[in-house]
Amino acid sequence: MAQKNQVFDNVLDLVGNTPLIKLNTITAPFKGEFYAKVEAFNPGHSSKDRVALYIIEQAEKQGILKPGDTIIETTSGNTGFSIAMVSIIKGYECILAVSSKSSPDKIDMLKTMGAKVYVCPAHVSADDPRSYYEVAKRLHEETKGSVYINQYFNQLNIDAHYNSTGPEIWEQTEGEITHLVACSGTGGTISGTAKYLKEQNPNVKVIGVDAFGSVIKKYHETREFDEKEIYPYRIEGLGKNLIPTATDFDVIDSFVKVTDEESAHTAREIARTEGLFVGYTSGAAMQAIKQLEEAGEFDKNSKVVVLFPDHGSRYMSKIYSDKWMTDQGFFDSKNKEAAETIQYIK
Ligand code: PMP
Repeated sequence: MAQKNQVFDNVLDLVGNTPLIKLNTITAPFKGEFYAKVEAFNPGHSSKDRVALYIIEQAEKQGILKPGDTIIETTSGNTGFSIAMVSIIKGYECILAVSSKSSPDKIDMLKTMGAKVYVCPAHVSADDPRSYYEVAKRLHEETKGSVYINQYFNQLNIDAHYNSTGPEIWEQTEGEITHLVACSGTGGTISGTAKYLKEQNPNVKVIGVDAFGSVIKKYHETREFDEKEIYPYRIEGLGKNLIPTATDFDVIDSFVKVTDEESAHTAREIARTEGLFVGYTSGAAMQAIKQLEEAGEFDKNSKVVVLFPDHGSRYMSKIYSDKWMTDQGFFDSKNKEAAETIQYIK
């Protein structure tokens, strides 16, 4: 952990301690103050650096991981990138089973970071042998000296955020945070952060962001797993077709659902208004804030922290591609932005 004059022993020393950045324009008409915890400032450009480093170091402490061992995981991309980065520095092999919904850029990045990648069909049930969960489990069984991170069902995923993201936000807001708004995928980020914040002040309101097509919000409200809630959607890393044990539903007050289309436009709006180039789920989280503001959730004393999980560069072939947006039907009469801002000089 040598850190003098911004000189570090290796890239892993830069994990965590991300900045909290005030939102000045996009939230200007809203009541209260709004701050983004911008996780793209992690060296692997997402909040998953915290989880990968924490879980791998816990396994080392328990003597489960030895040099040369293999780390296996299912991932929509970000966790894979972080595990690959940690594996390089610490000398492990890295095998990743990813969803076919992941952007090609993400898959190329994982390859570049030395990981062996298996791309599995997105729209099969979690217990289908082709699902990325089942493929990872099989590879774990077949690979001697392997560790399966299993982020959806690993309590250490929650602990990683309880020990870092939570305390950072509490300190950065000097204990004045009133609301936390965060996307829920594995649920590790929101659960660990919320648990820490609520221990400091039980009145902090914690609002999760879920996708239409995911079972999480309904499960939170009814404790019923409703298969009828499941259908394909485009946002990566948010919502689920199963109930992860890395989600502590008791520390989350409510969930808001957001659409693919509005989240994509809101991500673009964050870039245009705040100069922050962030990922699709950051757009989803900001979209949830818009809906909460409209529902009267905030007042002038609100100090809201929204988590922006990753960087926009991972979505160049998706929400930041005008072609992709057009193909999805996202440029309609309401949103005519398209490619009009580019001028070609002939
Ligand atoms: N946003 C993105 C881009 C992600 O990859 C993830 C992780 N699946 C999340 C949000 C949600 O974070 P968590 O898994 O901690 O709930």
